[in-house]
Amino acid sequence: MSKGLLDLLIIGAGPAGLSAADAAAREGLDYLVIEKGLIADTIFHYPVGRTVFSTPNELEMREGSLESCREKPTREELLSHYVRFVLERELRVNTEEEAQSIERISSGGFRVLTTRAEYTASRVLFAIGAMQHPRRLGVPGEDLMKVRHRFIEPYPYVRRDAMVIGGGNSAAEAALFLAEEGARTTLTIWRADWENRDPKKNSIKHWVRTPLEAHIEQGHLRLVFFQEIEEITERSVRIKLDDGETVELPNDAVFVLIGSDADFTLLRQAGVLIEPSGLTQVPVYDPETFETNVPGLYVAGHFTHARHIKEAIAVPRRIIPIIAAGLKR
Ligand SMILES: Cc1cc2nc3c(=O)[nH]c(=O)nc-3n(C[C@H](O)[C@H](O)[C@H](O)COP(=O)(O)OP(=O)(O)OC[C@H]3O[C@@H](n4cnc5c(N)ncnc54)[C@H](O)[C@@H]3O)c2cc1C
Repeated sequence: MSKGLLDLLIIGAGPAGLSAADAAAREGLDYLVIEKGLIADTIFHYPVGRTVFSTPNELEMREGSLESCREKPTREELLSHYVRFVLERELRVNTEEEAQSIERISSGGFRVLTTRAEYTASRVLFAIGAMQHPRRLGVPGEDLMKVRHRFIEPYPYVRRDAMVIGGGNSAAEAALFLAEEGARTTLTIWRADWENRDPKKNSIKHWVRTPLEAHIEQGHLRLVFFQEIEEITERSVRIKLDDGETVELPNDAVFVLIGSDADFTLLRQAGVLIEPSGLTQVPVYDPETFETNVPGLYVAGHFTHARHIKEAIAVPRRIIPIIAAGLKR
């Protein structure tokens, strides 16, 4: 089914897409959000019961509107906040509808084909986040059922040998949850990541590290410094340690938590240039307007240089009025 020409089609209903929808509604634009999963799907996939790192003022859609029992909200409080925001503002969000292709049309604007419909829009904002492709180790055994690239909760692993591989906060946090709930936990990490204490270089947050260290001291959690994972088998993981020795550790479950990357397929299809940035890639865009090299096609959120929720919310508030002004001209 083909719809009439929209002013703005927003792809993704994470914090960036929702902030954009809110700003578009305030500007009186004819907009629609397409979301392949649920409202705030990335947050829906955070570990159950997790307390987020950020404070309410960095996460909320309106000042003072995010209520949390403690200083920082849980996954559930944050998710509820975003869902209620959509419901109360009656934002136009279609969930479980995935954008599958995009093309520029001769009259200006874009045609976007989704799993349910075809849309034409004068402007398109990609707010797709960077969670589509969890990074893989690329080792034999990584496709075994016991290997996960996301951590949801610790309870299936009580009294089992669980290994977490990774050096960031997601890995450290998963290891902590597992150790706290009685899994025989091993955190397999590069020494440089464990010894990194610089918050600007993504060091493990101190409120995660301190209890982790206590669990290590009490013998509930083992730290393994490694060079390379060689193979994962049904019953074990073979690892080359950082001193060059190879060991085989008994194992029931493996969590590979080494980051994830955005899916740039649609952006590339539309002609957007993508450039390397650190370990990942980002689209090329104007730092003021967030318009890409393709006129009328914008980006916002975690797959740009403006990462994390605070910026994912702030950027659309700045750029939607610019988009609206351009449409009125
Ligand atoms: C475990 C974990 C913990 C985190 N903790 C924090 C924290 O404490 N504080 C913080 O600031 N940040 C945290 N982050 C990062 C934070 O989640 C992101 O910065 C935030 O979600 C970015 O918002 P976004 O809207 O840019 O992207 P996302 O929230 O990822 O939203 C993008 C949306 O686009 C949808 N989508 C993608 N492709 C398509 C398509 N083709 N069609 C339709 N829909 C599509 C996705 O389903 C998704 O819902 C954490 C991340 C993880 C994984």
